[in-house]
Amino acid sequence: MTGRLRHYVCGRTTHDLGAMFRGESRGVREFPSGVFLYDGPDGRRVLFDTGYATGEWRTGWRGAVYRRLLPPIVDDTDDVARRLREDGLDPASVTHVVLSHLHPDHVGGVSRFPDATFVLSAGLARTLASPRLRTAVLPGLFPDWFPRARRRLLEDAEFRDHEVGGVRVPAVDLFDDGSYLVLALPGHADGHVGALVEGRVLLAGDAAWGSDLIGAVPRLRALPRAVQFDADAYAATALALRTISNAGIRVVCSHDALGATELLP
Ligand SMILES: [Zn+2]
Repeated sequence: MTGRLRHYVCGRTTHDLGAMFRGESRGVREFPSGVFLYDGPDGRRVLFDTGYATGEWRTGWRGAVYRRLLPPIVDDTDDVARRLREDGLDPASVTHVVLSHLHPDHVGGVSRFPDATFVLSAGLARTLASPRLRTAVLPGLFPDWFPRARRRLLEDAEFRDHEVGGVRVPAVDLFDDGSYLVLALPGHADGHVGALVEGRVLLAGDAAWGSDLIGAVPRLRALPRAVQFDADAYAATALALRTISNAGIRVVCSHDALGATELLP
């Protein structure tokens, strides 16, 4: 397979690593919000996440609470559709949008893809059906048409164990050709998923704050641990990602500062 996998930054935020992890002194760090576009066989164009929403958020008090706790740094240039156009790509040519989970820094650009098929795990569909502040989902970020959008719902029973870097990972082979496996990477949010692209690059979403912080997950402080959907599963996922990375598969987290756009050399 010889597809392309490109990375774009659609907004960012900052966190104090010392407040997140015990024994961490690296200070305040920027966390860009990455989106990943895969050009695969048969003209398929698959986007993984959509970054922050630009412009005004019509998200009420929930949005105000969220923005206070995790202030986004975002301007018009961070719009995912604009990023694609700047790279010579028509946003309307995106055929599929895989959502790792539903946090605001991952779904802000959903409204830019009215003609795409949205790939959602059952856990995400459950969360959407009953959004609560606890899940950090802001219904106002989703366009009116979203409930009627073309959708590929991945039921839990569809996930079958695949061997990935020596680890058995429940996965759905999205196009039945091995090019794009949607991986269950539980813990961060109900139904959180990643993707293994051409068996070479693993998009890990928010399974960890950064690929260099996967090993630090056992040192998570109480508060950042408490906001995970399932902290034990989150820790187990991090352990699995370490093994997979050691086996030579490139693990990329959504908030990595990559400094490069092409991920499949
Ligand atoms: Zn998240």
